[in-house]
Amino acid sequence: GKGLAVFTSGGDSQGMNAAVRSVVRMGIYLGCKVYFIREGYQGMVDGGDNIEEANWSSVSSIIHKGGTIIGSARCMDFIKREGRLSAAYNLVTRGITNLVVIGGDGSLTGANLFRQEWSSLLDELLQNNRITKDQREKYKFLHIAGMVGSIDNDFCGTDMTIGTDSALHRIIEAIDAIVSTAYSHQRTFIMEVMGRHCGFLAVFTALSTDATYNFICEEPAPPNWDKKLCEKIKEERKSGQRLNIIIVAEGAIDREGKPITAELVKKVVVENLQQDTRITVLGHVQRGGSPSAFDRILGCRMGAEAVMALMEATPETEPCVVTLDGNQAVRLPLMECVRRTKAVAQAMADKNWDLAVQLRGRS
Ligand code: ATP
Repeated sequence: GKGLAVFTSGGDSQGMNAAVRSVVRMGIYLGCKVYFIREGYQGMVDGGDNIEEANWSSVSSIIHKGGTIIGSARCMDFIKREGRLSAAYNLVTRGITNLVVIGGDGSLTGANLFRQEWSSLLDELLQNNRITKDQREKYKFLHIAGMVGSIDNDFCGTDMTIGTDSALHRIIEAIDAIVSTAYSHQRTFIMEVMGRHCGFLAVFTALSTDATYNFICEEPAPPNWDKKLCEKIKEERKSGQRLNIIIVAEGAIDREGKPITAELVKKVVVENLQQDTRITVLGHVQRGGSPSAFDRILGCRMGAEAVMALMEATPETEPCVVTLDGNQAVRLPLMECVRRTKAVAQAMADKNWDLAVQLRGRS
């Protein structure tokens, strides 16, 4: 059977295990020899026990678990050619020429570079007598399929990234809990949620929790945001509301690009309205806990599609990323999506927020 390996890289997210499970089982079903690579690219560079053959039962009882059971890491070694040479050696000597990468845009970029260099890496290994001529010939093509695991929903080309829905559930549970205490004491709560470059979590949280106000990076707050915020709170209290929830995304800014932090918002509310105001920073709670049904199914579907893409690949097939488009699993050119995602980040850095939103498209 064909050698196929799966690994998770970059930040973890709920639903990654469902994706890993799906890749392993679909791969075995289609007759592949499937491997886990532990600790992301670091495991690929280091080899040894980090690359382990998987069987049907090694992915039993993981679908409900958060994080990733095969570990994830950031890896400086893989940024250097020397590290990628070692990774190529570890794959070729195990007969692995199909890779499923689950990560963010950095991880996908690394995989694309690896594939571009594959031929020259193999030549170098042959020259150094680390692999045989037969191995050089037999494993001359590397195929790549990617999936995006991220709670931020910050990747262009997919309606939802794996983990976003679970993170939303986590945030909403926390806010619902806070609402009951806020109601009793007539408090204003400021919640900081994740999303440095993407306000998706903040906007969806605000919509589903009846929040008073919402600060994100794509729509910088106007110069008089402090007045507008206080007027809105006053108005709501006048009409009988006993509490206020304000959502602040990590990357929230004003029109000059200055950060709007939870502390700053609190200062505005306390100084102008003298309200009992508290801050809650949810932090890694958002990444934790078990994946939602949506993320489990999303991981399963993306994983199966990634393996199918690899099995159908020809030497000419470009690396793809498997994404969700209107409830369909689709394959898109990996680098095009990465380029668009990076263009959004650039537009944001240039303070061209309209362009950023336009480039991001539906996701
Ligand atoms: P997240 O969105 O959670 O940050 P990510 O995949 O974008 O996920 P990165 O830290 O950017 O996270 O990348 C993960 C790993 O991918 C890096 O530690 C590195 O090993 C590899 N990688 C990233 N960019 C490159 C690159 N240009 N060349 C080679 N490898 C890379």
